[in-house]
Amino acid sequence: MRAIAFTIALCAAVLLALVVSLKGCSDSITTRLGGATDIWTILRSFNEENAFKLLKEQVAMGARVPNTSAHQRCAVWLETQLRKYTAQLHRQQFEVIWRDKKFKLTNVVGVFAGSSGETLLIGTHWDCHPSAENDEDKSKRGEPVPGANDGASGTAVLIELARVLSIYTPPITVIIALFDGEDFGEWVYGSRHFVSNPVPYMPDAAIIIDMIGDANLNVTRELNSIEHSRRLWEAVMESAKALQYEKHFEGDAVRILDDHVPFIEAGKPAILLIDFEYPYWHTTKDTPDKCSPKSLGVIGRTLLHFIFIGAKKFWGN
Ligand SMILES: [Zn+2]
Repeated sequence: MRAIAFTIALCAAVLLALVVSLKGCSDSITTRLGGATDIWTILRSFNEENAFKLLKEQVAMGARVPNTSAHQRCAVWLETQLRKYTAQLHRQQFEVIWRDKKFKLTNVVGVFAGSSGETLLIGTHWDCHPSAENDEDKSKRGEPVPGANDGASGTAVLIELARVLSIYTPPITVIIALFDGEDFGEWVYGSRHFVSNPVPYMPDAAIIIDMIGDANLNVTRELNSIEHSRRLWEAVMESAKALQYEKHFEGDAVRILDDHVPFIEAGKPAILLIDFEYPYWHTTKDTPDKCSPKSLGVIGRTLLHFIFIGAKKFWGN
């Protein structure tokens, strides 16, 4: 009888210890995962249909070419969108001169404070290229590019990502940067401006996305990224593999000037995710029907996996 009572007491103690240790374990996971019990909950909350809607909303404004009313309207819209998800919002307004003409540009930057540690900037450009010089129809080459993929796709993913980060606190601080003026004049004006005037401060690393909405998504192996920031590139590829997305990351090796280059020049690890095999690049046919919600989801979830799982490993903590 005593023995049985002792056994029962022992069992209860073991059970209690088990419950306590399980609870301790899930507490540390939920802290690490910003309140979610597993990474899949966070990944599932990225709504690719919502992102696609944001892509179409931008295209509906007209081509967001600097110094046009569509561009002005979009700058206000971007701020309204990001403000829904963070109070830490910065608007950088600046002017550039190109061919003796003054252009007013705006970067919109939102900060999502992490529970600890490093800062990762995730950026894209939101402006559109002023002329469709690759259009088959020569008469259309002077028209602006609608920029469904080239401008709106990355922006849509980052606004949806901001929504998810407003629900789940990231383990690292994430700066979401919507750069202006990537796609005209002497290129990458917005990111160059940011790097010389970083608000709120310079991040420890940067991931730039551009033209990732192509329905047939195949991300280019971009050489500036791989040569200068191989470890970051490989860490992000690991996240893609963990989600079985590797078949979307097997594009050709090409060297591209984009918003990651000013960060590399500033000595930071920085990579570019771009699908450069897009037949409608700088044509009037860069419209939403060439893009797909699925592709936005592939990139959005790869970024979320990197933020919540890969980044800690990348920085070794
Ligand atoms: Zn472009």
